[in-house]
Amino acid sequence: MNVISLHKQVWDSLQARRAQMPHALLLLGQRGLGKFDLASQFAASLLCEQPQADGQACGRCLACNWYGQGNHPDFRLLQPEAMAEDGEVEDGKKKASQQITIDQVRALDEFLNVGTHRGGLRIIIVNPTEAMNRATANALLKTLEEPAPSTLFLMVSSDPMRLLPTIRSRCQVQPVPLPSAARAEQVLAEQGVADARRWLALAGGAPGLAMEWATSGQADWLEVLIRRLAAGKAVEPLVLAGELEKAVKDSKGRLPLKAIVDGLQKWLVDLMLAANGLPVRYFLPQAATIVGLAAMIPPARLMQSYRATIVRRREAEQPLNARLFLEGIFLEYRALFANR
Ligand SMILES: [Zn+2]
Repeated sequence: MNVISLHKQVWDSLQARRAQMPHALLLLGQRGLGKFDLASQFAASLLCEQPQADGQACGRCLACNWYGQGNHPDFRLLQPEAMAEDGEVEDGKKKASQQITIDQVRALDEFLNVGTHRGGLRIIIVNPTEAMNRATANALLKTLEEPAPSTLFLMVSSDPMRLLPTIRSRCQVQPVPLPSAARAEQVLAEQGVADARRWLALAGGAPGLAMEWATSGQADWLEVLIRRLAAGKAVEPLVLAGELEKAVKDSKGRLPLKAIVDGLQKWLVDLMLAANGLPVRYFLPQAATIVGLAAMIPPARLMQSYRATIVRRREAEQPLNARLFLEGIFLEYRALFANR
């Protein structure tokens, strides 16, 4: 996704800061907008030794080469171990930490205390900034309070309420707003997403999220899934299983069973977030419904059911009776709402 063209105004405003660079910039905006990509491209443009007229990295110089290979000596990325390179949490890496650790922050000391290698800026991206416990955040705060010269912290956050106020106050805030529908549609279409408008609506206008959904194929099945799951107790598991089995068949391999388990899993994640008073992550337009449903389910049952879908996702890779499988997972979903 071309995040620079998606967020042209933000990009221009970032470039305008070159003359008087703060020590810490906080890119703040809802999830699914491409903030991490934007931070990454901005870092590349600052490290590039021959940037283009609009500030973008040239992609050809020594610095760009290093950066592209992930080994620019004046750059560090601070993110939870469990996160893949594209900034999303990867499945199947359950042992890796979901948090930035205090050791990762401490390891910055050495990096910050030697001169820069290329005589330019030293840049650290922190993604996401809320993925730190209090002790880790405090360790980072020390660094922010006594910044090493020529150092820029690029902090990314979708959840400012979970940041230490002292951290937030050390950063200049760069808001990343929801792009206009027209701009988002255009950027998605350029990426080859058919029916971009519909995907954007499903994703509550967030283009990154729309892109994530769109890779799963046609939108029809997702609309069915959302509508049925939103009914909660009245979900009609057998009907839903029938509808989705048909969608899988009709897709001729483009809609795998595991994409459906994935959708259900994301719905359960949102229910868990809502149950903990946190903003939903995936089904933004259904946020209010999800909050209502979460209040009807015992929290322990929710967690159990989420764990079960992890197993189900693995099963979905094997050949099996799709109809029975789908009936099974949706019967389990309905059971969430059963009286104890
Ligand atoms: Zn370059």
